[in-house]
This record gives sequence, structure tokens and C-alpha cells, in this order.
Amino acid sequence: MLVEIARAVVAATLLCGTPTVTAATAKPPGLFPERWIDGTLAQEPEVQVQALDGDTFVIRQSIKTNFEAPFLYLLFGRDKALLVDTGAQGGQIRPVIDRLVAQWLSAKGRTRIPLVVAHSHSHGDHVAGDAAFRDRPDTTVIGLEAQDVARFFGIAKWPEELARFDLGGRSLTVIPTPGHQAAAIMIYDPRLNILLSGDTLYPGRLYVPVNFLAENRASVDRVAAFAASHPIRAVLGAHIEMTRTHGQDYPHEAPAHPDEHPLELPKRSIDELHKGLRAPLDTPDRPQVHDHFIIYPVAPRPN
Ligand SMILES: [Zn+2]
Repeated sequence: MLVEIARAVVAATLLCGTPTVTAATAKPPGLFPERWIDGTLAQEPEVQVQALDGDTFVIRQSIKTNFEAPFLYLLFGRDKALLVDTGAQGGQIRPVIDRLVAQWLSAKGRTRIPLVVAHSHSHGDHVAGDAAFRDRPDTTVIGLEAQDVARFFGIAKWPEELARFDLGGRSLTVIPTPGHQAAAIMIYDPRLNILLSGDTLYPGRLYVPVNFLAENRASVDRVAAFAASHPIRAVLGAHIEMTRTHGQDYPHEAPAHPDEHPLELPKRSIDELHKGLRAPLDTPDRPQVHDHFIIYPVAPRPN
């Protein structure tokens, strides 16, 4: 079941629109039927799930459990299911996934489907729930090093080579995107024409260690080339850190996100990032601010 949240909804048209106030029951415009939990109410569920279709679920961990408030993705095919990320510290993701899988199986009149747990990248706010999946039956948790990801998806030439990962009637493309972090990937779903973009592109601060700028540029080159020949209805990242005011983000570790930017970015944001990365960005903490995201060079990191 989807989490129902009754409240006055302040909605705005998707990206660059004029804000309008709608009734509590009205749907916000955009990809998702409901407004995402954003920490602005005294109470909110620890996890919110919204379906894009009967086989595709987007999950948000409440900002009240962790300021990162990450988004996770669960995709079903005929033969297997794929979970992308397991959440940040403080999250309880496994029971939510078990419930969604049980509901999906019951809707299909089936008794089992293997689950693969992948990660948009290996930072703690995306892998903290892994331990809870290690003893789950019929489940494979992919390792956190780039070589683990490459081996699992059969990528001989990481990061240049793209991989296919077929869930059964749903053949995803895995695009290596090291830069923000060494094991980062994006995942393209040709059924819904969505690109799961992790922390490499989302409405927020796109942190890139200056010693990995070249890797990040090459990764975004790869994504832009892929996007040029594939339909993309929405780019779906792993956080929201922008408000609806152009170029305005929330303070780091903000406890709530009033007037939050939509999760989805349009396809043209890939081009905008691609062009933005051509500028010199070698000075840590001197960000390049765009309307819907901020390219944020940071001090060198080991990986
Ligand atoms: Zn993150």
C-alpha cells in the first residue's frame, strides 16, 4: 500500500513553473502521485513508497531518521527484482522491501522471486541497510568496490563499457559513473524511460572530489552519449537538496525541506551538467550554481 499523507499540499508545476496552492486531495503535478515526505510535519512515516507502475517502486527514507533522506528504487522483472541502495543509518528498509515483494508476488500469484541488491555508489548513506539483506533468502548483495560491481554485471572494461542486466522482459543498462565515488553507476530502464542517476546527478549538491574531476567528466560524457540515443522521461537521483527557488539549496544537514524541489530532473539536465563540467572546477568549495543542481568540487578524497 502506498503511504497516504493528508495535508495541505503546496504544489508547483514541474521545474520552473509558477507555484500554486492546491487542495489536500489534489495530486501534485509531475511524475509521482503524492508529495514526498519532507520533514515539515510534526510526524511522518519513517519510509514512504510511491509506485511508478505495478513493477516499479520509489522509496524515500524520512529526513527525521537521517538528514540525507535518500531515495531507493525497487524494480521487478519476470525473473528477478533489483533493489538500488539500502538507505542511510537510522533507516528500516528491509521490512519495507519484504512487504513490497510479498505484495508483488501475491498480485502475480507467485511464491518466489530472487532479489539483487545493487548500489548507486558505496557511500554510507546508500549502503547502511546492507547487513539486513545478507541473510535474506534468494538475495544477492553486490559488493562495494568498483571491481565487485564490474564483476557482477560482467563489465570487462570498467568504466568505459556499459552492461545489460535483464530482470526478465526488462533489460536494464548499467552505466559506470565513477567520479563522485569510485563504484558509482547509473541504471537505465527502457520500460519507463527513467535513468536512475544516484549522486552523480540529482536536484542538490553534486559533490566531486577535485582529484576525481577527470573521472567524473568522462562518466558524464558517457551518460550524455547514451542519453543522445535513448528516450529519457525523467532522471531520478538519490537525494533532494534544492528548494523550488532556482539555485537555492538547503543548509547541510537541514532537519526539514520546506518547499522542496521535485525529485525528477528532465533529460536536458544531463546536457547542462555535461556543459557545466567543462568549466574549470579545481578549487574545492567553490561551487558552480545552476537552477536545479549545484556542481560542488570538494577537497581530494582517497576514493
Ligand atoms: Zn548520497
